Amino acid sequence: MIIGGNLHDLHCHSLASDGALTPEQLLRRAAERGVATLALTDHDSVAGLERAAAAARESGIELIPGIELSVSWGGQCLHIVGLGIDPGSARLRAGIAALKDIREKRAAEMGCKLAKLGFPGCYAAACELAGEGMITRTHFARALALSGAVHDDKAAFERFLARGKPAFVRTDWAKLEDALAWISGSGGVAVLAHPSRYGLTASRLRAFLEEFRAGGGQGIEVVCGNSTPEEIRGIALLARRFDLLASAGSDFHTPEHVWVELGRLVPLPEDLTPVWSFWE
Ligand code: AMP
Ligand code: MN
Ligand code: MN
Ligand code: MN
Repeated sequence: MIIGGNLHDLHCHSLASDGALTPEQLLRRAAERGVATLALTDHDSVAGLERAAAAARESGIELIPGIELSVSWGGQCLHIVGLGIDPGSARLRAGIAALKDIREKRAAEMGCKLAKLGFPGCYAAACELAGEGMITRTHFARALALSGAVHDDKAAFERFLARGKPAFVRTDWAKLEDALAWISGSGGVAVLAHPSRYGLTASRLRAFLEEFRAGGGQGIEVVCGNSTPEEIRGIALLARRFDLLASAGSDFHTPEHVWVELGRLVPLPEDLTPVWSFWE
């Protein structure tokens, strides 16, 4: 069903990281769901953008080149989405290369932990599932579920992979100031992804946004794929207080999780400035 011509979905994943679809399949699915503007934002990767751009031209969708960068802040991993980036930027590419290295070392370490926990085949299976794409915990979760160790991906996170669980590996991701510089240096706008999902207290989130703003961050995801009206109201307050552009993104990964679908997003509160005013 096609619904309207101005729907923006500015956060989703392909096989270049932990999404289940090829860039072509993703663009086709977005078109079928009435998305007019899509940003592909793979974890620490721009590898899917070229194919996505070609597929976008075919389906008449405007593709915004994006990325979701993993950042360490206050001992926690936060996600910064870059929108309208230049994937050819040398500094961004160097940052991505460093993150790839971090991810590969961390995956090997997770593999060791899982082997000690009685799942020696898990590392090879996760690498196989990741293929050419950036390796993530999602690949380990799927490997554990496919081996029958747990009954689904969610249970794999709950038992082994989430923070504080036995196969979790504490990781030093990019520094906030670096990630912001890579994004703005490549012509993009930096957006804090899914602010409600980090378990930060209101005051910690405000402290983060002070730093984020000072480092050149300009946007915040006000509407996410599974936001509640209450969450949207709370994040909208922060967007006003910190004078941030408002973004909307489903964080779609796979057709199997029917509760997060491409383009299934409620409109942004009307008084906010949409992040797409940045490039439109
Ligand atoms: P990573 O960046 O390798 O730490 O993997 C993070 C990804 O794992 C997220 O982007 C989600 O796609 C997925 N993820 C994190 N927590 C969960 C969870 N509790 N259940 C299912 N997927 C999760
Ligand atoms: Mn993911
Ligand atoms: Mn994320
Ligand atoms: Mn995401």
